[in-house]
Amino acid sequence: MEYNDDYEIASEYAMKVLARLKKLEIPMSPNNFELWYVYYARQNQEVIEGIDGTIKEGRPITTQICDDLHKKYLLDNKKNEKVREAGDKMNDALAYVTDMVREAKASTEQYGESLTGASNSLTQTDDIEELKTILAAVAQDTEQMIEKNRRLEEELEQSGEEMATLQRDLDSIRKEAMTDGLTAISNRKAFDEKLKYVRQRSDEEASIFTLMLIDIDHFKSFNDTYGHQVGDQVLKLVAKTLTDGIKGKDFAARYGGEEFAIILPESNAMAGEVVGNALREAVAKKEVINRNSGEKLGRITMSVGVAQYSGSESEEALIERADKALYKAKETGRNRVVVSE
Ligand code: GH3
Ligand code: MG
Ligand code: MG
Repeated sequence: MEYNDDYEIASEYAMKVLARLKKLEIPMSPNNFELWYVYYARQNQEVIEGIDGTIKEGRPITTQICDDLHKKYLLDNKKNEKVREAGDKMNDALAYVTDMVREAKASTEQYGESLTGASNSLTQTDDIEELKTILAAVAQDTEQMIEKNRRLEEELEQSGEEMATLQRDLDSIRKEAMTDGLTAISNRKAFDEKLKYVRQRSDEEASIFTLMLIDIDHFKSFNDTYGHQVGDQVLKLVAKTLTDGIKGKDFAARYGGEEFAIILPESNAMAGEVVGNALREAVAKKEVINRNSGEKLGRITMSVGVAQYSGSESEEALIERADKALYKAKETGRNRVVVSE
């Protein structure tokens, strides 16, 4: 996002932002400032709808909501800008190399013509002086050709290095785009791609796989009691327990707020139930300790919904079945695994 409002207008927006943040008791962090600046400057329709929508629904505007909106509509845009920038640089580098190759081709052709010319002249003369002149010209052209080639080689090498750097930049941007910022495990976007891929493979190879949706029990009250930061600590702990508890081709991602998803390729629902119970017990066994005060905050549990791919349903339908099973696990007492029929 670019900001180029003039001084007066920008100050007016800034005053409005500060007043609003103060009234909402939301921290005046750079991110919150940016979000509300964009809102008052009417620069991003999604931000406007996100905020106005929340107000219309009668929900309070919390720090969490601001964080989410900023991440969703402003941070991801910045990532896209970075990708576009890297793409532009790559294009420039490619255009440069293409030019160089064209230039190299032209000078090789020119050199070829000059050699043919010399060769023709040589057959038509037996004068020593003339021979010497022709040879001197050929030697000079050859030297120039060698020099030109050396320069081209250096430039090509440099361009190659630049492109390798850009490639690495793009790789790391892509990796960042697929990783959840808080827990450092795969995010929803990565999950969507993975599920699509695994389902396709399963259709092609007539193999099976199982999906698991996991939701932390009573997390809201945990958050309300101990605060958002401790809640974040718990999310990290759960994410780590999940990734530590699966193996091989299994894939774990943060699906949303306090929900996680696991894909188990080549596994049936029964295997899903076993893994789900093992993970559930691993999480329940851990005691949450407040990192700052050392205070013991008790244990957390989670509920799990398991669904094996039917072989003919859409990704959405499979997710919905796992979600229904999860809902049933909640309904029937939480801290349990339910398998979809
Ligand atoms: P249930 O057992 O039915 O799942 O109850 P619950 O309280 O876990 O369910 P609910 O969906 O009502 O609450 C989820 C809460 O998770 C709401 C929000 O406070 C919290 N949450 C979501 N994302 C984050 C996050 O990134 N960090 C923290 N700390 N809390 C989060
Ligand atoms: Mg939930
Ligand atoms: Mg929950």
